[in-house]
Amino acid sequence: MPELPEVETVMRGLAPSMEGAVIARAQVNRPDLRWPFPDRMADRLMGQRVDRLRRRSKYILVDLASGETLLIHLGMSGRMLVSGDPLGQFVHDHPTAEKHDHVVLDMDNGARITFNDPRRFGAMDLLDTATAEDSKLLSVLGPEPLGNQFSEQHLINAFENKKSPVKTALLDQGIIAGLGNIYVCETLYRAGISPKRKAGAIAQQKVAGLVPIIREVLQDAIAAGGSSLKDFRSAGGELGYFQHQFDVYDREGKPCKRKGCTGTVQRVVQSGRSSFYCPTCQR
Ligand SMILES: [Zn+2]
Repeated sequence: MPELPEVETVMRGLAPSMEGAVIARAQVNRPDLRWPFPDRMADRLMGQRVDRLRRRSKYILVDLASGETLLIHLGMSGRMLVSGDPLGQFVHDHPTAEKHDHVVLDMDNGARITFNDPRRFGAMDLLDTATAEDSKLLSVLGPEPLGNQFSEQHLINAFENKKSPVKTALLDQGIIAGLGNIYVCETLYRAGISPKRKAGAIAQQKVAGLVPIIREVLQDAIAAGGSSLKDFRSAGGELGYFQHQFDVYDREGKPCKRKGCTGTVQRVVQSGRSSFYCPTCQR
């Protein structure tokens, strides 16, 4: 499932083909994905200039000249494909339409943006740009981990007296927006904190120390995504997934990578999701 760094990478990959261009044609091939598409979605997209792309949590937001914003969520298996881009960055011809191509946007610069999602957990919606932050999906989100509102004090306050495990607290989208299972495991490993520790029982200084680690883990992954964009030409125009080395995630039974630690990575299930950690150096 794409997490924040993957979504950021997709957004950066789409921006050159979409920003400043007009959606000349919008084709919507079914009435819904995870939720129904908004009324007359194709009509409301067609003829609109794209002012800018941005990201909030795991949502890509496409601001249109009409004052509406197209919200895109990739869900579990959603992919964005760019083809026929005239800017010379991407050389792919338009591919043959595939079974799960649900939304196709033809830009007036010749680029075609295709949203393909076999499992249909993805979503698209149209929001008023001015009040987008107050919408049902966005208003429940905590601060962006890479934004200015995410601070040491914010995390200390959020963890105070919390009885749930730190893993669960970091996955709480109301505390931090966009952190998912993979990057929470990586963060706790770098911090040397067991995912099973109660959030409220961790010393304030250690909680504060999580803030720069979260930023570092995400920025490293975004940098890896950025390098993957350079190989885009050979990648068939598909955006969103890239090879990335993890320190602890998905390494069950393998030796801990920390210098001087002789521990072995273990997997435990917490709230139905796998946590990977080293019981020797994560306390
Ligand atoms: Zn270890």
